[in-house]
Amino acid sequence: MTDFGRTTLPYCSFILDGKRHIGVGIGTQVLDLTAAASTIVPEHAALFADGSLDALMAAGPATWHAVREALLAHEPGNDLHDDVELVLPFTVADYVDFYASEHHATNVGMMFRPDGDALTPNWKHLPIGYHGRAGTVVASGTTILRPSGQRRSPDGEITFGPSTKLDIEAELGFVVGVPSALGTPVPISQFDKHVFGVCLVNDWSARDIQAWEYVPLGPFLGKSFATSISPWIIPLAALNGARVDPPTQTPPPLPYLRADEPWGLNLEFVISLNGIEVSRPPFASMYWTGAQMLAHMTVNGASLRTGDLFASGTISGPETNQRGSLLELSWNGTEPISLADGTTRSFLEDGDTVTISAVAHLDNGERLELGEVLGTIVSQP
Ligand code: CA
Repeated sequence: MTDFGRTTLPYCSFILDGKRHIGVGIGTQVLDLTAAASTIVPEHAALFADGSLDALMAAGPATWHAVREALLAHEPGNDLHDDVELVLPFTVADYVDFYASEHHATNVGMMFRPDGDALTPNWKHLPIGYHGRAGTVVASGTTILRPSGQRRSPDGEITFGPSTKLDIEAELGFVVGVPSALGTPVPISQFDKHVFGVCLVNDWSARDIQAWEYVPLGPFLGKSFATSISPWIIPLAALNGARVDPPTQTPPPLPYLRADEPWGLNLEFVISLNGIEVSRPPFASMYWTGAQMLAHMTVNGASLRTGDLFASGTISGPETNQRGSLLELSWNGTEPISLADGTTRSFLEDGDTVTISAVAHLDNGERLELGEVLGTIVSQP
């Protein structure tokens, strides 16, 4: 298991004696907060009773802070568990996926629109996103069934069958705790009043299905079959030391997208395929921040619900070994990547296991592990 140290204090849900409990990661162990809350945070014990993070997430930043302070002061004893079964820790409400990496958007543009500008005219004015399928967000470890769908071959033939271009997208997910009222935009300054924490996301993508269906309304069945998230939710407060300025934005964004404080994050992702590292995407290179995504997502008055999940989009850095998808790493299959075991990959094969992990680099030199999200591809029965 990940070693979370003593100050990260990530939350999870785990199964104990057939019942769901809320846990907190301490080192490589799990503190049973459903059992221990009456001692550690008696005034908030009711929030942990049902084993889901929903009530804590909805309670808001003052409560998040009080619980975190109590956990920092707590001396763990015999309330720690090893090797617990982790499950999805909150009820996913709405799911939005952004497209916030300039390097990723440029790479994809170069591959799919080689005769035009790599970035679309809107890209530097707003964080582009789409609404995904909340009901198919699954916890790390869930097997991923290779999806079937319509594809168009290079000679124009339309066929149906299992995807032959199954891919990953390494992303960071933001988890909303505090809801907002319909008709009232959430200003960019209120980001940390609404967002509870972050998780790691693998936005599984069937490129052949996606390429045929996406015009003109965007991703649909090529994405909606499954999205995996890490079972640990890292509180936003644990990442304060990792906050950095995002890249300079030119042209300057409209006022509602301008922040007074930095919400870039110095996180380093690692993507492994069957245990072999294939890429190290740097989150600090993301053009748009989570705070800008939240402000944009609500600027039309759309309301937030507890459990809303919005993901950053594929994280790709400027270097070839910093790309966050196989589409880019293999340049749409024209440059298959070599694995250390002697095999090559353009896209995923049945039986492949993809693991995405991340660490936060704090300004005091500390390094916080953020957990991992993994999934194994299985064929259609
Ligand atoms: Ca995505």
